[in-house]
Amino acid sequence: MGIMIYNDDNHKNSNLLFMPFLSDWSDCMISLDEDRCQGCGLCVEACPKKILAIDRSRINKRGHAPVAVIDVKRCISCALCALMCPDVAIEVN
Ligand code: SF4
Ligand code: SF4
Repeated sequence: MGIMIYNDDNHKNSNLLFMPFLSDWSDCMISLDEDRCQGCGLCVEACPKKILAIDRSRINKRGHAPVAVIDVKRCISCALCALMCPDVAIEVN
């Protein structure tokens, strides 16, 4: 189980900016359109495994510090992060 991150218009797995947070790209279940993220942190609060965090070292195209995953192996694919996101930036496959 893992998390896939993307940010291009075609929703492809192309965003390597999240790589420092990812330890395993296999069996990807979740994707993030990073440039939709407004850095509100609602998904961070919603995640029962507490594996999401706002990455304040980076800025996306909207000028926000985007969310990042810090321990992908603990993701249970519950999709609470996607349900909470007001910008529909997260998708559970
Ligand atoms: S799917 Fe669930 S466990 Fe995985 S990052 Fe989202 S809220 Fe956290
Ligand atoms: S809820 Fe959506 S907009 Fe807010 S930090 Fe998470 S991914 Fe970004």
